[in-house]
Formats: sequence, structure tokens, C-alpha cells
Amino acid sequence: MSVADERAAMVERLRAGGVTDPRVLAAMGEVPRERFVPGEASDQAYRDSPLDIGAGQTISAPAIVALGVAALGAGPEAHVLEIGTGSGYGAAVLARCCGSVVTVERHPELADRARDALLALGYDNVEVRTGDGTAGAPDRAPFDAVLVTAMADERPPQPLLDQLAPHGTLVCPVGRHGHGDLVRYRGGRAEELLPVAFVPLVGESGADQPS
Ligand code: SAH
Repeated sequence: MSVADERAAMVERLRAGGVTDPRVLAAMGEVPRERFVPGEASDQAYRDSPLDIGAGQTISAPAIVALGVAALGAGPEAHVLEIGTGSGYGAAVLARCCGSVVTVERHPELADRARDALLALGYDNVEVRTGDGTAGAPDRAPFDAVLVTAMADERPPQPLLDQLAPHGTLVCPVGRHGHGDLVRYRGGRAEELLPVAFVPLVGESGADQPS
């Protein structure tokens, strides 16, 4: 099967699995996921599972990326913050769906690789930052939407809630020891979307402390 066929089959599985947002499906039908999976694992880029990307981290399974981006409900002009760049794949999907993206990764080698991949593919509406994402990106706030792709301990870091525009939506996995729920915060309310497993959010504000 060609890479294009594998990508089309992935989109059909997402659709069958209940992803309906046409912009998310179109973005995931375009972004070459294999370019964000390093080395030999790129052969498995279109599997329905998370994959190792180095530094003990993973690229989220396609369905989790689709659900997270769709849950933001962000329009084509939206200014979006992602915490946990990882491979950069989620940032690429956000870049195709939204107006501008700031993404923050604490591991410099992952941030550098993601920046290179995004630049090589021409996604020029994404800024990749290296650092502790629990502080957000105050100089680029407010954000219409914030997507956290590592698991917060009990609640999202307060700086991220503070940097959300009044009409904004924040989606964050919340739980303990990597297991919990994907939770959507908007209009002062929290809504549990589905049970999920994620690597921990490690940082200073409302997260596991760095070890
Ligand atoms: N969105 C990613 C998946 C990321 S996995 C993708 O599409 O590939 C979660 C990432 O969050 C890991 O790379 C991890 O290093 C990062 N992370 C964890 N805590 C962080 C923090 N405080 N600030 C920034 N990145 C963090």
C-alpha cells in the first residue's frame, strides 16, 4: 500500500470511529505523518497506536490527535497554543486547521526535530519553543484554544487557564500516573470527554516536578 493509501485508510478509520469534523479529517488526510516518526518506526506511522519518538516520549495515536484537535472547536482564524510538541505531528494538524500555532516542548532535541520537520513541510504558521510549557507563552496570549498533550496532575496549570481568551477552550488530559480523562474547559465549566493515557506533564506550574 502506498503512503497516500495508508493515510486515506487512516482517515476512513477515524471517520468510522466517530470523528466528524471535516477540517480535522482534511488536515489528517494531508499531513504526512510518516515525516514526524523518526527512523525505522516511520514504516508504522499509520498504525492506530502511539509510537516511540525518542527521549522516552511518544507521538499520540491518530485517533487521539483527531479527538483532541476536534474538541477545541477552533476555527480557521484561531490562535492556538499546544503544550507538548513531541514529534510536531499534532502541531502540523493544528497548523492546517487554525490560523496560528505556538507549541512548546521541554526536550530540546524533540523541539529541534519537530521545528525542522514543520519548516521542511512549509507549515510557516507554527512557532516551536523549547521550554517548560506549564508557563504557557504569555507574550503571545491570549489564545482562542489551548491543547495540552501530556497529562496534568488533577488540573491544568493555572497559567494556561489565565492565557485563554474569555471565549476560549482548553483541552487537557487530567489524571494520575499517566491514566485519566481528556477534559474540556470552556466558559468556566469542565467536561470529561473520554478516558485516556498520556505521558506526564513535567514542569513547575501544576504538574509533576522535573526529576
Ligand atoms: N503532540 C505530540 C505528542 C506529545 S507526547 C505529537 O503530536 O507527537 C507529550 C510531550 O509533552 C512529550 O514530548 C513531552 O516531552 C512533553 N512535555 C511534558 N511536559 C512538558 C512541559 N512542561 N512543557 C513542554 N512539554 C512537555
